[in-house]
Amino acid sequence: MVAEQGDRVRVATDNVTYEGTLMPSTTINIVVKLDNGYNVGVDRSACIELLEKKAPAPRSEKSEEDTGAVEEEGLPTVAILSTGGTIASKVDYRTGAVTSQFTAEDILNAIPELRKIANYRTKVVYSILSENMRAEYWITLARAIAEEIEKGADGIIVTHGTDTLGYTASALSFMIKTPVPIVLVGSQRSADRPSSDNAMNAICAASVAVSDIAEVSVVMHGTTSDDYCLIHRGTRVRKMHTSRRDAFRSINAQPIGRIDYPSCKIETFTGYARRGERKLALHDRMEPKCTILRYTPGMSPELLRFCSLSGYKGIVIDGTGLGHVAADWIPLIEFATAEGIPVVVTSQCLNGRICDRVYDTGRDMLRAGAIEGEDMLSEVALVKLMWALGQGWSYEEVCAKMKEGLAGEISGSSGCRHEYCAFDNL
Ligand code: ASP
Repeated sequence: MVAEQGDRVRVATDNVTYEGTLMPSTTINIVVKLDNGYNVGVDRSACIELLEKKAPAPRSEKSEEDTGAVEEEGLPTVAILSTGGTIASKVDYRTGAVTSQFTAEDILNAIPELRKIANYRTKVVYSILSENMRAEYWITLARAIAEEIEKGADGIIVTHGTDTLGYTASALSFMIKTPVPIVLVGSQRSADRPSSDNAMNAICAASVAVSDIAEVSVVMHGTTSDDYCLIHRGTRVRKMHTSRRDAFRSINAQPIGRIDYPSCKIETFTGYARRGERKLALHDRMEPKCTILRYTPGMSPELLRFCSLSGYKGIVIDGTGLGHVAADWIPLIEFATAEGIPVVVTSQCLNGRICDRVYDTGRDMLRAGAIEGEDMLSEVALVKLMWALGQGWSYEEVCAKMKEGLAGEISGSSGCRHEYCAFDNL
């Protein structure tokens, strides 16, 4: 039998032999994906031996709709909503690239341990790589989640690409007050790679989805080993590494907790909203026309004028240090805020809090109407601004809400904590 792409093969030349999966080959080379995940190219004159035909991928017939799974009595019901990303992906042997091809039902079939934790309803909301997410998709997703909670789901899992997982987690945190856990999960390596993190992340996510932690959280590997996952608050988490399995970190806050693997024992580090403590509420309007300007030395303030005059409704400036831009930006900040466009300042430092009362620049920025973004991540400030502007509040209300902690995005009460602020004379 002739070996085809996706089959397991042994390829031998005069001096070396490789075993692995046959990939799309070039006119010069036969390409084999080794078990360690790396590809090797071998001259076409090499001898190929077929070891195993590729297994047909398990696929759900009813991939676009809710699928009724076999119910185990006494187990809670979890709704899995899939949006795509690597957790729903495998290598496409036509292109050698990773593409989103699995539904939530496929994920369930591939990870049988999940069935011991809960009964599931599954739904495909999107099948996209998360770089294609947008505000209107967050809204559709929030509505789908609310519908599942209304239909009695005891917990929700959202499978999602890792690139913009933090943005979606943050958007859902502002849009939904939830009585049950809403857990976002992804994976850094697709299911067909030996080092895939998808099964452990999904099992940990399911365990959090049936727990008492009724918050929007992100559950991903805590270390590069398979020992525990961290449970991050949806408004505090950032992807901090391009490829490591433990890429997700809570910034400016402790994670809510950790979940050991394989015992699935949860240990919490912070307070959290408990199951049933809050009633379901959906505030799903968003103003998409907002942006982040990352200030760099010498950057032209004209960009701010451009945004103000081309219909942007809210601007986050990711400033330097305690929250600064060059002095020539101040008149343009004043111009934007006079137009009724909120300008929120965050810091490229990531860690720490904005305090625009220490240096002259900061004080001038505040006089020009800039809002200190407290200790929010810049992307969280952006999503919050989009959400706040969607609520139909006045300019003053939006500015006030940006400084108020609404979904765990700001530590403590708002206000500068810098030692010099004691001498505040604004
Ligand atoms: N680009 C992919 C995505 O965000 C990466 C991943 O899922 O990990 O959809």
